[in-house]
Amino acid sequence: MVDTHCHLVDPQFNKDLDRVLKRAQASGIKKIVNAGYDPETSRKAIAMAREHDWLLPAIGIHPNEAADQSIEEMGMIEALADDDKVVAIGETGLDYYRDFSPREAQKQLFRLHIALARERHLPVLIHTRNSLDDTVSILESEDYHCGVFHCYSGSYEQARKIMDLGYYISYAGVLTFSRRARETVRRLPLDRLLLETDAPFLAPQGQRGKRNEPSFIIETLHHAANVLDMRPEDLEAILDVNAQRLFSY
Ligand SMILES: [Zn+2]
Repeated sequence: MVDTHCHLVDPQFNKDLDRVLKRAQASGIKKIVNAGYDPETSRKAIAMAREHDWLLPAIGIHPNEAADQSIEEMGMIEALADDDKVVAIGETGLDYYRDFSPREAQKQLFRLHIALARERHLPVLIHTRNSLDDTVSILESEDYHCGVFHCYSGSYEQARKIMDLGYYISYAGVLTFSRRARETVRRLPLDRLLLETDAPFLAPQGQRGKRNEPSFIIETLHHAANVLDMRPEDLEAILDVNAQRLFSY
């Protein structure tokens, strides 16, 4: 099993990372995509991969972190991308829900991430909230077709558009408590589907209110398998192939 989007770099894991990793391994998790959200956590993601080769680093500046200095900081992200452990660029994208940063600044930063991903032949980890149309139109105008829309919660029609652009759709624990997510996932082609925790955020139903962690992805897997009327091990095998194809490990 692979957790395709998680933030083990978050300070919430500083105290007990070893135990979190042990529980992940005990649950059968073989790889975790560990995403940075600013230069410091991106650097940390690479350092963690040196110690634990199954933690795959992704590097970028989250749209909620977009600020005046972000364009300059992208230089640091570009330098970090030289490390061949890096499997993806992001977390990047647009967030008009929280709107912490001016939209134009977010768009510019998103385009810089796409340019870097193109240069390094890497997928982009995309965060989009209340911003799907702009996100899709930027990807279209940049003519970039490799990556994943993480923590997806949109409609089937929107998912269709995203997949037509060449992107994967990833579900977090939301799948365990959202009827819309369940109804959508049932209609998606299995070869474009991924699962993630987005830990430490968004714990699945059975763990709601707790800090999320990679081992909790098993609940989401079982839930998805149930919705899709498949055996969990069969779904897991397909998801693993998808993740390997996208992240080329
Ligand atoms: Zn995230």
